[in-house]
Amino acid sequence: MTTITMPQFTVTQSTALDFAAIRADFPILNRRVHDRPLVYLDSGASSQKPQAVLDAMERYYETTHANVHRGVHTLSEEATAQYETARARVADFIGACCPKEVIWTRNATEAINLVAYSWGRANLRRGDRVLLTEMEHHANLVPWQILAAQTGVDLDFVPIADDGTLILDDLDRLLTPRTRLFAFTAMSNVLGTVNPVKELAAAAHRAGALVLVDGAQSVPHMPVDVQDLDIDFLAFSAHKMLGPTGIGALWGRREILNAMPPFMGGGDMIREVHLHESTWNELPWKFEAGTPAIAEAIGFGAAVDYLNSIGMDAIHQHEQEITAYAMHRLSEVEGLKILGPGAGQRGGLVSFVLDDVHPHDIAGVLDSLGIAIRAGHHCAQPLHERYGIPASARASFYIYNTKEEVDLLVKGLHKVVEMFTF
Ligand code: PLP
Repeated sequence: MTTITMPQFTVTQSTALDFAAIRADFPILNRRVHDRPLVYLDSGASSQKPQAVLDAMERYYETTHANVHRGVHTLSEEATAQYETARARVADFIGACCPKEVIWTRNATEAINLVAYSWGRANLRRGDRVLLTEMEHHANLVPWQILAAQTGVDLDFVPIADDGTLILDDLDRLLTPRTRLFAFTAMSNVLGTVNPVKELAAAAHRAGALVLVDGAQSVPHMPVDVQDLDIDFLAFSAHKMLGPTGIGALWGRREILNAMPPFMGGGDMIREVHLHESTWNELPWKFEAGTPAIAEAIGFGAAVDYLNSIGMDAIHQHEQEITAYAMHRLSEVEGLKILGPGAGQRGGLVSFVLDDVHPHDIAGVLDSLGIAIRAGHHCAQPLHERYGIPASARASFYIYNTKEEVDLLVKGLHKVVEMFTF
């Protein structure tokens, strides 16, 4: 049996961050919704963007735009330099050995699909197994279901306990000699559970399986170092980490990426093309067909610079504090049940259900008060089925959220209870 310790976070003193200055960096936080100041508690779905990111993208379009890798003229060379510098920043941010291990994708979803289509179809055969968990976002479930239907690969699932943590007692049995990949989320987008990535990866490697980590919720909120975690693939999205939509990344170990066939064919991903055959470009471009999201990559680089300027430890600490505070305050609301583990084992989000009130009604009332939360199954329907609920409401936090906003959320929820109690 593998003994795995869950990561424990200690919530101590308040971080010495200048919140007024941080909030002032996000122009959207000045807007009003239904004539009230916006309280944005939906960063788990998509985060807001600081002025530095908006400026970087606008500056690029105003001064530099041209296609990358293709021109010999000044603009194209400058655009290419900025685009590739952004890749180097993102590579550095996650502790990658080198920029060529970072493949630009549209988002985390495309990054996982890239692995399923390219690595999966080249390496997996009928009877091979892919291990997932019951807490996966559809992005880390449906691509494997499609692969399973097309190749005869079998899927297994690590179950979840009632408290929202993974049940790991049987992990060694689930990691069978036919298991070729263990793909799991570093942090659940519904339960908030932070999984023990390093230990899960070590168990998978001992069993001879590769490890794909869905970092869509972890990379934006805590320090992540792919070499220290000793994983093989990491998928994440810029729009959840203060960057623009339309760009994400797949990090992969160079030797594994080198051995994988291309994902899509077209311009830029080739070395030579003849009428009946082609050869492939080197990493990372082998996986990047067609004109890429250039401004978005540059915006992603600016987002990473912004996060670094605050520090991922400080961001994580702030979210730990605000989440612990939110869990404490939310427990005051009559009939409210929080999903997932205690504050020490979760990241910066809290999902909950409220007696007989549908999450959409909760979100509707809160919206009328200017408070944005998410309601639904959050693209994790099997997880909700596991708990016997169709949907939940979710408040998710980032560096710009304050305890005062949590107080407004709790006040709004008291109003919901009042409105729906007959
Ligand atoms: N994985 C997790 C855990 C998520 O929370 C999300 C988005 O909410 C995704 C994957 C997919 O991210 P995207 O829609 O940016 O591809």
